[in-house]
Amino acid sequence: MAKLKIGFFSFTCCEGCTVVFLEILNKKYKEYMKKIKIENFRQLKTNEEIKSLDIAFVEGAISTESEIRKLKEIRKKSKKLIALGSGAVNGYPSNQRNKFDKKKQKQIQPLIKTLHQNKTIEPLSKFVKVDDEINGCPISEQDLTAKIEGYLKK
Ligand code: SF4
Repeated sequence: MAKLKIGFFSFTCCEGCTVVFLEILNKKYKEYMKKIKIENFRQLKTNEEIKSLDIAFVEGAISTESEIRKLKEIRKKSKKLIALGSGAVNGYPSNQRNKFDKKKQKQIQPLIKTLHQNKTIEPLSKFVKVDDEINGCPISEQDLTAKIEGYLKK
């Protein structure tokens, strides 16, 4: 049986949700490596090329034009795109600055300019179709395990 080809991608966030997958691998590495091929995962490999994937797990909210371009490329190359964690699902907590008052907005302008960030920080669904999601900040090991194993059975 062909292995499930998956990738993990991180945008504007603390990367805590992909670390949850590393925790799962501590327990399930041997079992998963028989069934899963990890094509992209910054914490494990330097490969930045986005290949064709069965599932892309995407964490973090979107804050720059280059992130929008990369997210659209991931979408094009993936059969399923899963939003991983609240940042990807609804923008929180990275999007807190969207609601700053005028004074605070003005104070952070130099930083936003330096980081080439957009006016607002948005969830994935603002830019691409999202097939599935796991909410939480961070997500739970149980939820991610159940999701992965659910797709392995399909
Ligand atoms: S949802 Fe929370 S824990 Fe997960 S990557 Fe975003 S900020 Fe980090």
